[in-house]
Amino acid sequence: MKQLVILGAGTAGTMVANKLRRRLDEKEWAITIIDQDNAHHYQPGYLFMPFGTYKPAQIVKPRKQFIPKGVEFKIGEIDRVIPAQNHVLLANGTQLPYDQLVIATGTTPRPDQTSGLIGAEWRKSVHEFYTFEGSKSLADALETWQGGRLLIHITEMPIKCPVAPLEFAFLADAYFKKKGMRDKVELVYVTPLDGAFTRPLAARALGGMLQERGIALEPDFSIERVDEEAKTIVSYDKREIPFDMLVTVPLNMGADFVGRSGLGDDLNYVPVDKHTLLAKAWPNIFALGDASDIPASKAGSTAHFAVDVFADNFVRHVRGEPMGESFDGHANCFIESGDGKALLLDFNYETEPLPGSFPIPGLGPFGLLRERRLNHWGKLMFRWVYWNLLLKGRPLPIRTPMSMTGKVQKG
Ligand SMILES: Cc1cc2nc3c(=O)[nH]c(=O)nc-3n(C[C@H](O)[C@H](O)[C@H](O)COP(=O)(O)OP(=O)(O)OC[C@H]3O[C@@H](n4cnc5c(N)ncnc54)[C@H](O)[C@@H]3O)c2cc1C
Repeated sequence: MKQLVILGAGTAGTMVANKLRRRLDEKEWAITIIDQDNAHHYQPGYLFMPFGTYKPAQIVKPRKQFIPKGVEFKIGEIDRVIPAQNHVLLANGTQLPYDQLVIATGTTPRPDQTSGLIGAEWRKSVHEFYTFEGSKSLADALETWQGGRLLIHITEMPIKCPVAPLEFAFLADAYFKKKGMRDKVELVYVTPLDGAFTRPLAARALGGMLQERGIALEPDFSIERVDEEAKTIVSYDKREIPFDMLVTVPLNMGADFVGRSGLGDDLNYVPVDKHTLLAKAWPNIFALGDASDIPASKAGSTAHFAVDVFADNFVRHVRGEPMGESFDGHANCFIESGDGKALLLDFNYETEPLPGSFPIPGLGPFGLLRERRLNHWGKLMFRWVYWNLLLKGRPLPIRTPMSMTGKVQKG
């Protein structure tokens, strides 16, 4: 019996387990998936909890519910991979041999990597919404906050869901307006990028939306430390920005065991071929989802499109045939803009987010790079799609390779 071991039962790992169990003969391949606990979090929900849109119970379900029959689910902390011996070591000492390995252990916010971030003010006036606990405690803090200067801050790129801090800024603007206290709140968006976003057209559109809402933009800010006493963030070039409340996105890093196993780059992401997701260093290790170093958005949608391509390729790969499919870096992200509206971005390695309609030219119903109510409903509906279709590896009515249909190219 051959062994396929999947590390991480989050978005990507769960999809891989579902798609490959259907494709691989049960008499030939055993599949094992490992995670540190049995709680699957719908992470896009972390954006909404601080504003009361979702309650904690709506975004957590048992992982077991999504692991298909015929796949063994083990709970345990992964300590390291020993690639030269084809086995995984768990922290409890268990050794798991593999013929093929999928690393899908994602990326994690690491507030410990910025000096002064986790101190006496942590979860008091210094917050984050990239974890369940952080998002929940921010909800409590916002409910009673009397106003002042709120910084929405990104430590360093890449981060998962790179549009989430912008969405937070737009939702905060709408939230304080609704509470009748927008005039008591100064919103400042602080980013290491030179504009609101990475790609030119989107950066211009999103930068304009910050301006319209009276949200100041502080670009090119590379944080050195948080000065808790002075309540400022300080950059390497010695700029200081004061805050009453700081909502930061800490440095995101791949899992520590990836580094310990000699499989990662400086941020513990696994270097892979960006079209096949096969590790550059090992012919029987793939990295999917946020765990890899591909130059695409770290997003559930990217993981979904990549897993589609990977599943077909994997079957060929284990038969000794060339992998025929090529992942194009497709990402598809709704951006909440407040007041029940959202934008949609659809892009890949080669094509930046363009305006237009999606998926049908002229009709949509979703609007690309423009605010629409329907986009907002699309974003909220996605939670149902995630639990009921996406994780279970069921087909979605969106093409895997990005399509130019409906996109408007200028010039
Ligand atoms: C605030 C926020 C908003 C977001 N919004 C969107 C959105 O609107 N659209 C979108 O497409 N994406 C969004 N995302 C991103 C999306 O959630 C992630 O990109 C996606 O979950 C990545 O899937 P993954 O499988 O790579 O990682 P994860 O789903 O994070 O899974 C990794 C798994 O590995 C496990 N693991 C890690 N280390 C170990 C270890 N040592 N031992 C055992 N287990 C381990 C973890 O427990 C985890 O279950 C958002 C994320 C955040 C934080």
